[in-house]
Amino acid sequence: MAEASKTVHSAIVTYTSMISLLTLCPPFVILLWYSMVHADGSILQTFEYLKQHGLQGLKDIWPTPSLTAWKIIAVFGAFEAFLQLALPGKRVEGPISPTGHIPVYKANGLQAYAVTLITYVGLWWFGIFDPAIVYDHLGEIFSALVVGSLIFCVFLYLKGHIAPSSTDSGSSGNVIIDFYWGMELYPRIGKSFDIKVFTNCRFGMMSWAVLAVTYCIKQYEMNGRVADSMLVNTVLMLVYITKFFWWEAGYWCTMDIAHDRAGFYICWGCLVWVPSVYTSPGMYLVNHPVHLGTKLAVSILVVGLLCIYINYDCDRQRQEFRRTNGKCLIWGKAPSKIVASYTTSKGETKTSLLLTSGWWGLARHFHYAPEILAAFCWSVPALFNHFLPYFYVVFLTILLVDRAKRDDDRCSSKYKKYWKTYCDKVPYRILPGIY
Ligand code: NDP
Repeated sequence: MAEASKTVHSAIVTYTSMISLLTLCPPFVILLWYSMVHADGSILQTFEYLKQHGLQGLKDIWPTPSLTAWKIIAVFGAFEAFLQLALPGKRVEGPISPTGHIPVYKANGLQAYAVTLITYVGLWWFGIFDPAIVYDHLGEIFSALVVGSLIFCVFLYLKGHIAPSSTDSGSSGNVIIDFYWGMELYPRIGKSFDIKVFTNCRFGMMSWAVLAVTYCIKQYEMNGRVADSMLVNTVLMLVYITKFFWWEAGYWCTMDIAHDRAGFYICWGCLVWVPSVYTSPGMYLVNHPVHLGTKLAVSILVVGLLCIYINYDCDRQRQEFRRTNGKCLIWGKAPSKIVASYTTSKGETKTSLLLTSGWWGLARHFHYAPEILAAFCWSVPALFNHFLPYFYVVFLTILLVDRAKRDDDRCSSKYKKYWKTYCDKVPYRILPGIY
């Protein structure tokens, strides 16, 4: 079926990004780790090293995935898979797919998050496992994740061909696009183990929280104290991730889950890019205990928390509006809306409501602005000696600008004239008056 290729970039963009991601991302992850941990967080120092030693230099610093690294990944992955299956949770339905399939989930993310963090800190507190070991083997862990996740993506590709879990699956007719963008929208193992919930939420997002705590503990063990910069960074990242798990069932209605198929793009990204790049500001701070002072630290913290709240409120507003069929209050008033009809791939006519007031009346993807600002707030405790702690913010900005365009294109082909009406009413994409 052609649906997979219809909703994504052109073939040329797909090939270019596929080849770039496959060839550049693995060395980038290793070089990022090397720069943060062994080169004072300095791109220049790493660049000088590579200039002197060339490809052999890259080979020399590339850690071999050790047994300890594989063990850490396996124990963490198995623990998260167990929690996903075993913890109780409310039955939740995802949005109806283009083929009329409604995925059913068990909403136990917040419980899994709490159990994970309590277990991890408890293991450290009672002297059973020292999280500093994870930091000390970080390069080997990333190196193992690079390889392991690639093999996992091959498994997803084969599963999509041989044993798809639902009707929301199919080939675009092109091996590379199938591997890169994925074959299945809702791959599962058995009836209830949802693979995308595992890769995106329980492995990717959870590893972000676990590594944030790891960096804090490592700094504490090295210096006997945690710097205020590290505290601000960790608190903001943990609040953001807590918000994510609080709202996890809402995430199951977003593009990542309801539109992007399980392939290299999303799964490799969540399994490798999230633990390495998303955690990188904290990774930098381990060796750079910047002292901010109470006033600055509290100011950054307050602005960061406000951004996380606004981002959450945008998502909440949209979901509340859709859940109540527009019968809710938005900023104290009845919402203004567009009743948009569209045709499914089966030829049925359906309607969706588009909110045109509140945050969604400021710009069509306003929620990305506080998301980017929040990321800036947990990066800025590193101050301005090096660029690398800001790499995540720069990457996120590019990702979200691209995502806003992808989403606009998808909604435009779904809602046609109704989307045009929305664009006329709300002309800006992310920043009102600017873009
Ligand atoms: P969403 O999927 O939540 O929102 C976009 C979808 O909402 C559209 O595809 C459309 O879907 C529907 N929609 C669009 N406009 C309206 C409207 N006016 N009223 C009602 N529904 C509308 O977006 P994202 O998945 O991009 O974002 C979700 C959250 O995840 C955000 O907080 C974002 O910041 C965060 N995020 C974080 C990333 C990170 O790496 N840190 C990356 C990406 C997102 P439909 O077909 O149902 O109409």
